[in-house]
Amino acid sequence: MSMRPRATIHLGNIVDNWRLFDHTARPGKVGAVLKCDAYGHGAAPVSKALYEAGCRTFFVAYPEEGADLRAALGPNADIFVFQGAVSGHATLVKTKSLTPVLNSLKEIRAWMDLGQGDPFALHVDTGMNRLGVSLGQLSNVRDALGDKRPKLIMSHMASADTPPARQNRAQLEAFKAAKAFFPGVPTSLENTAAHWLDDSFRSDLSRPGIGLYGGGTSPLRADTLKPGLTLEARILQISEVPADQNVGYGATATLSRDSVLATIGLGYGDGFPRSASNSGFVYLGQMHCPVVGRVSMDLITVDVTAVKGLAKVGGLVEVIGTNADLEAQAAAAGTLGYELLTGLSARVERIYQHD
Ligand SMILES: *Cc1c(COP(=O)(O)O)cnc(C)c1O
Repeated sequence: MSMRPRATIHLGNIVDNWRLFDHTARPGKVGAVLKCDAYGHGAAPVSKALYEAGCRTFFVAYPEEGADLRAALGPNADIFVFQGAVSGHATLVKTKSLTPVLNSLKEIRAWMDLGQGDPFALHVDTGMNRLGVSLGQLSNVRDALGDKRPKLIMSHMASADTPPARQNRAQLEAFKAAKAFFPGVPTSLENTAAHWLDDSFRSDLSRPGIGLYGGGTSPLRADTLKPGLTLEARILQISEVPADQNVGYGATATLSRDSVLATIGLGYGDGFPRSASNSGFVYLGQMHCPVVGRVSMDLITVDVTAVKGLAKVGGLVEVIGTNADLEAQAAAAGTLGYELLTGLSARVERIYQHD
């Protein structure tokens, strides 16, 4: 029995979540965003499970990630690379038959030279001001393409997790204007949060990431998703500590009553953020047990006074899962599920559950 923290990856839940997106997108299609090692879940096993379920379109950030997916999935998967053809990497994109997402006129010209008619996607920046060509550049883009057309025209939403935000409509209008430059070319607009907006935001290909793993902060639909993983850690020590004692580095917590504390083998070295000091939590059984004191590299201390009968040295507590909600845990640490999941370190043992 390893005493290290462990993440059980629920491939069946990830597939169920993808199917939920797939049903709600029809007649549109749904790809899967697997960048950053499938948000910490493991890109190879996750991509294979989704492929078996019928998913054929995958998105990653870097060409190397795309090459790994190609090795896992074989020749028939459609693999898009967001940072597609940044100079020096286009050769890998080409040899692995990846589809680059082109983000600037420079990349477009370079791909026209190197790609020689190979497919590409065009990313239009509709107001996020992060990546992509602007609307004003689209006529130059069309000129640079000659008689070639993108395989997909895409854009990315900045405020979709705030459904009433005015920026959502503004980006939609800008995307419509961009589409008019390339009639008949398939479109892709929605990330997870935008997928739950109203039907006017539907494109031909939705691109959920965080929702596949059960996360996301949109107030719409988030509760029907299943957790992509369960993170658990072991109880290493149980102590009865009297009132007025301090706990942890810097003595930032002082016990208000006689308490039973459990020391857990989990810390920021595993990706449990130090910003969860005195605010994060674990579940022991159905019981919420707060983190007491600072998170250290390998250890946290939690108050198990209310469930002391359940606490056993060597037993497991849940840190993320059905009880310990991913986004609630992330919010307690002042962050998002995205950062918590992608921050889980290599020390966390990964166990794959296939159903
Ligand atoms: C990461 C990413 C997505 C997925 O976003 P989620 O919020 O995780 O659903 C979609 N499109 C682009 C361009 C991305 O970078």
